[in-house]
Amino acid sequence: MIKNLCYDTPMKKPSPNTPCPCGSGTKYKKCCQPYHRGARPADALVLMKSRYSAYALGQSRYIIATTHLDNPDYTEDTTTWLAEIEAFSGQTEFRRLEIFEFVDGDEEAFVTFRATFGDGAMVEQSRFVREGGKWLYHSGEFPENSG
Ligand SMILES: [Zn+2]
Repeated sequence: MIKNLCYDTPMKKPSPNTPCPCGSGTKYKKCCQPYHRGARPADALVLMKSRYSAYALGQSRYIIATTHLDNPDYTEDTTTWLAEIEAFSGQTEFRRLEIFEFVDGDEEAFVTFRATFGDGAMVEQSRFVREGGKWLYHSGEFPENSG
């Protein structure tokens, strides 16, 4: 059989009453959903968790809205970018998020975390910068390749 290369995984529909993917133990509607609907995360750690949830739930517009212009993935071609995020979200099983370190600051902050997927895990140190009072994901470094 030829493997079907189409994105045949249905879009993940966020359900307000299920536990939030970020692992807080709180229902989605009381955790990351308000951010996905436009509330502003108070710090970079909250932003990081809400971005993880957004990936897990296919909230691709939130990913784009919280990515800094200087990020390597940033592109004006949002149609392609949205499709790429949604494909990644649809094909990936997001199992667990673990926060190792959070270094806060006024204009710059770092979060080191491990994300466990259905087929592996990754460790990333994310850099966030604040612009006009709004935290944005700037870039990531990968201190250890555990894939
Ligand atoms: Zn959450």
